[in-house]
Amino acid sequence: MKIHEYQAKELLAQFGVTVPRGRVAATAAEARAVAVELGGPVVVKAQIHAGGRGKGGGIKLAATPDEAESAASAILGMTLVTPQTGPEGRLVRSVLVEEQTAIERELYLAVLIDGSIGRAILMGSVAGGMEIEEVAASQPEAIIRVDIDPAAGFQPYQGRELAFALGLDGDLLRPATALIAGLYRLFSETDCSQAEINPLVVTKDGKIIALDAKLNFDDNAAYRRPAIFALRDRAEEDPLEVRAQAEGISNFVKLDGNIGCVVNGAGLAMATMDAIKLAGGEPANFLDIGTVNDPARVVNALGIISSDRSVKAILFNIFGGMARVDVIAEGIITAQKQAGLKVPVVARLAGTNLEEGLKLLDDAGVSVERAADLAEAASKAVAAAER
Ligand code: GDP
Ligand code: MN
Repeated sequence: MKIHEYQAKELLAQFGVTVPRGRVAATAAEARAVAVELGGPVVVKAQIHAGGRGKGGGIKLAATPDEAESAASAILGMTLVTPQTGPEGRLVRSVLVEEQTAIERELYLAVLIDGSIGRAILMGSVAGGMEIEEVAASQPEAIIRVDIDPAAGFQPYQGRELAFALGLDGDLLRPATALIAGLYRLFSETDCSQAEINPLVVTKDGKIIALDAKLNFDDNAAYRRPAIFALRDRAEEDPLEVRAQAEGISNFVKLDGNIGCVVNGAGLAMATMDAIKLAGGEPANFLDIGTVNDPARVVNALGIISSDRSVKAILFNIFGGMARVDVIAEGIITAQKQAGLKVPVVARLAGTNLEEGLKLLDDAGVSVERAADLAEAASKAVAAAER
C-alpha cells in the first residue's frame, strides 16, 4: 500500500527525520491560508501516488500567499501526467503546501528489500532528484548499498559508513547518522516494503532535510498496523483492484495486456502469464482465485475481468486439487447466464471433478474452447484475442 507524501512526512517526523514545515490543502483558499501561516515563500506540491511530479508540472514555487493560491488552483483538479502515471495521468485532489528549502545538494536515500538476498538494504546516491533506476543504468558506481543482517539488525557503523560515502561528514555526520537510523527504524517498525527519500537535501544553512518521501507498506501487515493502513486512499488505487478486494479476491493485479486470466494458485498464475507471453500475447491481469468452493467467487472474478474493456479473451487455467472443476464450471455458467460473456473463453481444466465439470458445461451449452495443456491454452487464448 502506498500513502501520500504529506502522510509519509508526518510519519518521518515521528521517527526524528527532519521535514519542511507544511500542511495539506484541498482547496486553493486553504492553500493560501497555509502559506499565510508559514509566513514565507512556499512550494505547492500535487499529492498523487506517483513520482516524477516535478517534470509533469505538479510542483510550483510560490513567493507570496497570492501566488500559492493561484499555484494551488492550477494544480488542484488537473490530470497530472508524469513518467510514472502512464498516459492517462492522475487527478489531483490535494496539495501539500510547505516552506521553501534553499538547496545546496540533492541526495538519494532509501531502505528497501532486496529480494535476491532476502534482506533489507540501505541505498544511497549522491545523484539525488534523479530516478534511481536512471542512476543505476547510467552510473551504477554512484549507488552505495549497505546490506542489513536480519539477525543482527541495523548497526550504527553502517549508518556512518553510508553517511561518509554520501559526503555527509564534519558537522553533518551526527544529524545524517541519526536520520539514517530513524528511517531504518520507521521501515522496520511500520512494516514498510520501501522507504525512499528523493531528494534528501543538504540546505544552504547546513541542515539535512527530507524534501520528498515515498513509503510503501507490506499489505500482509495490515492486520497489525491499523493506524498505518487507515492512511489508505482508495481513490488513488486501481478501481478494479479495489473491487476485487471488496469481493474477496485478494490476489488481483491489473496489467496492460488484453488476455484476462483466472487461475488457482499464485505460482500457476505466474506460469500462466509466462506462457501467454511466450505465445506472443500480453496478460490483462494477474488473478489467483485461490481454492474455490463457491461458484460466486468465479462469477465475481469474471465480472471484474469483463468490466475491463481491454480484455479480448479470457483464459482459465485451473488445476483442481482442493478446488473442484465442477464448481468452476458452475461459476462460468452462472456468469454466462447473468451477464453473458462477450469475449471468447479458453479453458485448461484438470483435476478433481473434471468429468462433472465438463458435463455441466456441455449440458449448459456454454461455449468454452478447451485446451489439453498450458501451452495450448496460451496459444489458443492469444489467437482468440486477435480474432
Ligand atoms: P517528484 O518529482 O514527484 O519526485 O517530487 P519532489 O518532491 O522530489 O520534487 C522534485 C524536485 O523539485 C526536487 O528534486 C527539487 O529539485 C524541487 N523542489 C521541491 N521542493 C523544493 C523546494 O522547497 N525548493 C527548491 N528550490 N526546490 C524544490
Ligand atoms: Mn522525488
